[in-house]
Amino acid sequence: MALRIDGKAISQIIKDEVKEEVAELKKRGVDVCLAVIQVGDDPASSVYVGNKKKACEYTGIRSEAYNLPESVSEEELLALVDRLNNDSAVNGILVQLPLPAHISESRVIEAISPEKDADGFHIQSAGALMTGERGFLPCTPAGIIELIKRSGTSIEGKECVVVGRSNIVGKPAAMLLLRENGTVTICHSKTKNLREVTKRADILVVAVGKPKLIDASYVKEGAVVIDVGIHRNSENKLCGDVDFDSVSPIVSAITPVPGGVGPMTVAMLMKNCAEAARLGAEKTGKL
Ligand code: NDP
Repeated sequence: MALRIDGKAISQIIKDEVKEEVAELKKRGVDVCLAVIQVGDDPASSVYVGNKKKACEYTGIRSEAYNLPESVSEEELLALVDRLNNDSAVNGILVQLPLPAHISESRVIEAISPEKDADGFHIQSAGALMTGERGFLPCTPAGIIELIKRSGTSIEGKECVVVGRSNIVGKPAAMLLLRENGTVTICHSKTKNLREVTKRADILVVAVGKPKLIDASYVKEGAVVIDVGIHRNSENKLCGDVDFDSVSPIVSAITPVPGGVGPMTVAMLMKNCAEAARLGAEKTGKL
């Protein structure tokens, strides 16, 4: 019987660790603050922003919400980012994606100070991940590594296959697995014989955005499977990129959807904010 990797429980442990760190920083005179910018009122974005706000409340991080109308110009948004970059009371800045089509997401992300890059999407953070320098890690891939390690699997020397190569999940997840000394293969839509490649994996990370693409025929017996995908099926129930019922009988551990990778993203965001505050305070001699 496969271990069901409990992302809810693991993310709770991480949030409790952050809560302790935030309290410790507070005792030493350092407050932690995350500024969250939302443009427009897309319902899914509002849910994500609400979850982040709740996690801030739980961990003791002060959150500042900026709700801008859909019609806001790129210049106005960039001006707000600039103001928050220069506000020493703000440690982390997050711009909820997606942005309306008339605003360049990359221009906005690159405008965020790398020292306040709570989402870990800035090109400097991506470069640091590549070269092994210190930098903020993108939250979902960082959460994937925590799920694997904290559920008792060591990555070193393992055959790791990542399906998907997006900048926010697949690529950074592969870099992090490499950093943990896994032997890493990245697959994508042009990969030939996907099944043969994924079947080699001791650790299989799936982030393709295709409901239930991966069934038992893609998976090696005893593998650890991390399902990043999140979809609503025709019965309005959530499911992942992995067919859980088909795969779970043959693997050693697997994340469910919901309750796997999903809750980890917000927990890792809280961790990045606390780290940004600590590093900022060290830099300015407050700690
Ligand atoms: P993208 O659409 O940006 O990337 C999907 C990747 O999958 C691409 O690299 C694509 O290849 C590859 N791909 C698509 N179809 C196939 C296929 N048939 N075989 C092999 N590879 C394929 O998605 P994201 O990385 O942003 O997200 C992936 C999933 O994870 C989505 O369901 C998303 O909702 C979910 N997600 C969940 C998060 C969470 O917190 N739980 C956070 C972020 C995302 P190519 O590059 O060649 O096009």
